[in-house]
Amino acid sequence: MKKTDVVVLGGLSGITAGISCRRHYPEKKVILIRKEGTVLIPCGIPYIFGTVGGPENNVVPDGLLEKNGIELVTDEAINLDREKKVVTLKNHEPIQYEKLVFATGSLPLVPPIPGVNKENVFSVRKEFDYLKELLKKVDKAKDIVIIGGGFIGVEFADECRKNRDVNITVAEMLDQCLQLALDDEYCNEARAKLEETGVKVLTNEKVVSINGKEDAVESVELASGKKIKADLVILGIGAIPNSKLAEKSGLELGFRKGIKVDRLMRSYTDKNIFACGDCCTKESFFDGKPSGIMLASVATSEARIAGANLFSPVHHNCGVISVFATVINGRAFGVAGLTERDLKKNGINIVIGEAAAADTHPGGMPNSTMLKVKLIFAKDTGIILGGAVSGGKSTGEMVNVLSACILHRMTANDIAVFQMGTHPALTSSPIAYPIVNAACKAVLSIKG
Ligand SMILES: Cc1cc2nc3c(=O)[nH]c(=O)nc-3n(C[C@H](O)[C@H](O)[C@H](O)COP(=O)(O)OP(=O)(O)OC[C@H]3O[C@@H](n4cnc5c(N)ncnc54)[C@H](O)[C@@H]3O)c2cc1C
Repeated sequence: MKKTDVVVLGGLSGITAGISCRRHYPEKKVILIRKEGTVLIPCGIPYIFGTVGGPENNVVPDGLLEKNGIELVTDEAINLDREKKVVTLKNHEPIQYEKLVFATGSLPLVPPIPGVNKENVFSVRKEFDYLKELLKKVDKAKDIVIIGGGFIGVEFADECRKNRDVNITVAEMLDQCLQLALDDEYCNEARAKLEETGVKVLTNEKVVSINGKEDAVESVELASGKKIKADLVILGIGAIPNSKLAEKSGLELGFRKGIKVDRLMRSYTDKNIFACGDCCTKESFFDGKPSGIMLASVATSEARIAGANLFSPVHHNCGVISVFATVINGRAFGVAGLTERDLKKNGINIVIGEAAAADTHPGGMPNSTMLKVKLIFAKDTGIILGGAVSGGKSTGEMVNVLSACILHRMTANDIAVFQMGTHPALTSSPIAYPIVNAACKAVLSIKG
């Protein structure tokens, strides 16, 4: 039997946990076990179908493991004996560990609707060969229906339409696409950008069956009675924690069957077992309530915490802020923290500050884009609770700034006096910098 200090099971957050462990404990031997020969950049998966042109162009380089002295075993962990601290693999000898990290991720949700098992119905699995097959199907398809208008669904729609003569429909059962992430005005803007490309967006439409003779897909039927022609269906309706092995080995599961962890990322059941990423439970940064958010930002932060805490506590998990960005037909949309819709639903008294400016100065610079920023503060305290941005490439980093503001519980006053670095070709003007100006406007309302 092989012996090691640390075994990590998984991909994206597994690699991050392994690197973090080696950074903090360079004397420890780390083995990463993962099912896939190649790890795809999960957030890059939609871009396989358009911009990057294939799964081979969307890969996390294994050089990272070598560079950090982590041994890779490509295999599936099929059993875990917690008493003996041994992981059994499908094709290799068992491995004994001192500490174990679960980073087994999530599996796509497949709704129990008639026709979902037909040949041309695909979920979004993070598997190289599966996605290569889906790419071939997308290339041949004439009528694609995407079920789910969350960020995965809209990114797939936007990418699949590129350089193809294909009809694409997104069917979303909520009032808006991206409704779980963005406020209405941003959802409307995103929808308009997607529709500009010819993609059809149906909202308030629940899919009830996928129809066709035998294994063929011919149409998708909606609760309203409408039928949409389809020869390929892609499911983008969410994911569930992949915690079966953890459950089998007696680890306690929590919200949505995630592996129950504490703020040090240790499992509740076994202090030698840690977990991070989509496979474990999460709590909201804002109120400590269970959170179902699954994002790479959260997964990798948790992985850094888990890796660092393996042999002695270093970091503490502050909970999920939820920060992410997407691009639709060239326009970027980003969000950090809570939305106006969520806050109003929960009866929280808020103040909103909004501002817009070109992301260069003068705005006539080549490739200049109009940036729109919305900041949301608690009325009583002036503390920032959320923010949204739409614009060009800088959107991604602007919501990261907002995430840092939220993490440090900054107030509108703090943000209003930010000294933002600016340059004509790179940023908005220092007079009109939209994050600062939105905060300045909110300060007035909070004072009032
Ligand atoms: C299409 C798509 C787009 C996304 N875009 C974004 C985005 O833009 N921004 C963002 O923040 N998030 C995005 N996400 C979410 C993000 O990808 C996930 O939150 C992230 O991948 C979670 O990382 P993880 O390491 O926990 O799990 P995963 O990435 O799911 O990795 C788990 C790994 O564990 C392996 N594994 C499982 N069981 C075993 C076993 N028994 N033995 C060995 N190996 C095992 C799996 O094969 C897999 O490789 C996106 C997700 C998808 C599907």
